[in-house]
Amino acid sequence: MIAIDAISKSYGPLEVLKGCSTRVARGEVVVVCGPSGSGKSTLIKCVNGLEAFQSGTITVDGVSVGDRRTDLAKLRSRIGMVFQHFELYPHLTVLQNITLAPIKVLRRSPKEAADKAMALLERVGLADKAARHPAQLSGGQQQRVAIARALAMDPIAMLFDEPTSALDPEMIKEVLDVMGELAAEGMTMMVVTHEMGFARRVADRVVFMDGGRILEDAPSEAFFAAPSTERARGFLSKIL
Ligand code: ADP
Ligand code: MG
Repeated sequence: MIAIDAISKSYGPLEVLKGCSTRVARGEVVVVCGPSGSGKSTLIKCVNGLEAFQSGTITVDGVSVGDRRTDLAKLRSRIGMVFQHFELYPHLTVLQNITLAPIKVLRRSPKEAADKAMALLERVGLADKAARHPAQLSGGQQQRVAIARALAMDPIAMLFDEPTSALDPEMIKEVLDVMGELAAEGMTMMVVTHEMGFARRVADRVVFMDGGRILEDAPSEAFFAAPSTERARGFLSKIL
């Protein structure tokens, strides 16, 4: 579903991705971890074209992200992205947050979009919050709305960039549980997270980055049982 081949990217003179390659098969969950500044966010943003890269190729469902002829807006509308900060529209209700893009971009009828939004809110356990505004919800609830909003576009894959790192500890689980259910339903997912319990339970593979390079790319059991690099061992010993 996602093929990343020899991606390099610089911000000015600073090379932040140095030939990264990995693949995410359909239905697979890949956790990306590594120290701060290692290039995780940059890599994930390259996948849906939010950041340009200088060399290498990325294809998503066979569509080349870096190709000038690719309709990036269209590709992006098919890839769900959930960030650390939920970025819901504060002036809209929860329901309107979810129905906006399906109505505007997918040309769904308001009724159809609302029915689907309600089903998604049910799924993330927030059906009773449809008429609220984001500020009236907890951080964990807002993040679950952000996930429902992404799912409303029927994405072919979901990208998460530290979705729980701005949340209080008691809210982390409710978001990770929703993500775990999504994974169990077969969603293709690339997840930047430091939640190693989630990685162990849910991820098929773990990618470990350091200094703009992918140092490890292994099935999660193998990664946690015995990381093959000293850097990954050091990283795990600090955060576990
Ligand atoms: P991570 O998500 O692993 O913490 P990032 O991908 O955010 O790492 O950043 C990788 C490197 O790129 C860091 O050195 C960071 O300072 C740098 N960087 C990120 N975004 C920009 C930007 N817009 N301009 C310049 N440098 C950036
Ligand atoms: Mg980051």
